Amino acid sequence: MYQAKAYSAAAATSPLKSATIDRRAATETDVQIEILFCGVCHSDLHTVRNEWASIMPTVYPVVPGHEIVGKVTAVGAKVTKYKADDLVGVGCLVDSDHTCPSCRADKEQFCPEGVFTYNSPDKHLGGVTYGGYSESIVVDESFVLKVPKNLDLAGVAPLLCAGITTYSPMRHWGVGKGKKVGVVGLGGLGHMGVKFARAFGAHVVVFTTSPSKVDDAKRLGAHEVVNSRNADEMALHAGSFDFILDTVSADHDVNAYINLLGLDGNLTLVGAPENPLPVSSFALIFGRKSLSGSLIGGIAETQEMLDFCGEHGITADVEVISIQQVNEAYDRLLKSDVKYRFSIDMASLKSE
Ligand code: NAP
Ligand code: ZN
Repeated sequence: MYQAKAYSAAAATSPLKSATIDRRAATETDVQIEILFCGVCHSDLHTVRNEWASIMPTVYPVVPGHEIVGKVTAVGAKVTKYKADDLVGVGCLVDSDHTCPSCRADKEQFCPEGVFTYNSPDKHLGGVTYGGYSESIVVDESFVLKVPKNLDLAGVAPLLCAGITTYSPMRHWGVGKGKKVGVVGLGGLGHMGVKFARAFGAHVVVFTTSPSKVDDAKRLGAHEVVNSRNADEMALHAGSFDFILDTVSADHDVNAYINLLGLDGNLTLVGAPENPLPVSSFALIFGRKSLSGSLIGGIAETQEMLDFCGEHGITADVEVISIQQVNEAYDRLLKSDVKYRFSIDMASLKSE
């Protein structure tokens, strides 16, 4: 065991501040990683503020962060895929049981024994796992990803959650040429959804509540942008979508989007607001529409997504911040004011 610098919150109402945490010594299958950048996901904020208390209550102190990019500093004796100095990533998952039907189908995110990068029981040290707002992390090699060498690392970090969470449902629902695809909410997940839908060849429409994001949405790849608070603009698209990805982090009306689906269209929720959303059965019945959810992606699919990003030169558009700016970044997230992901330069932790 060794000690590492980190940022943690002591309670739902406390700001994140400097702390020292324990990390395990690398076991023979572990990779020890110096963290270079960590993205700021809205899930970090939901967790720090205990907004998912009824499903996944937060254990304090909490160290968030599951969009991790770094450099390998040491490997255990049985590690075969990585060596010192390799560029690697870690996303939302750090362990699973490896034997259940989900694990055997490369869908570890649905493993009943899955261990999330933070706020999950830590079988090595007791307590809970601590995430990427830290100078280092130790992870079993089967949950470590290879990072393409040609990409900007600050912009790669968000691919580990925002990237895979939008890539996976779009692959599952066949987003591609000839499909009309909507992305609701232009934040961290939404802007990655736009990039992937465009790269897959779909006709892409962004729904935003922020008129100031229209030009950016087009630059990111949208063919059309709709102000979702304008009923007339929404009505123009009634019954026309094959697939809509909803990334909104707060209460909103999903029926407005179900109404925009065509026959057999699908609306997938990846946004995880604190409160349940009312759904109109009539909106689904007429047109045999479906409403789904999706959770990040498995490890093999996350590697596929990173390789796709390497081939296509795709990264997140980031605002690089210091760890000292993270509380301010959370306040801005709540105002939908991020272009389009905060990425923490972990070198800033050295001065703490
Ligand atoms: P984010 O960067 O804060 O983006 C959310 C966007 O939603 C905002 O930029 C805004 O876009 C829109 N929005 C916010 N409040 C709204 C409101 N009241 N009404 C309508 N639109 C609103 O958040 P994120 O990091 O992308 O995460 C989004 C959600 O996905 C969070 O709930 C997060 O926990 C969840 N998540 C789920 C998974 C999964 O595996 N399913 C993985 C990661 C994150 P506009 O300004 O364009 O309207
Ligand atoms: Zn996330």
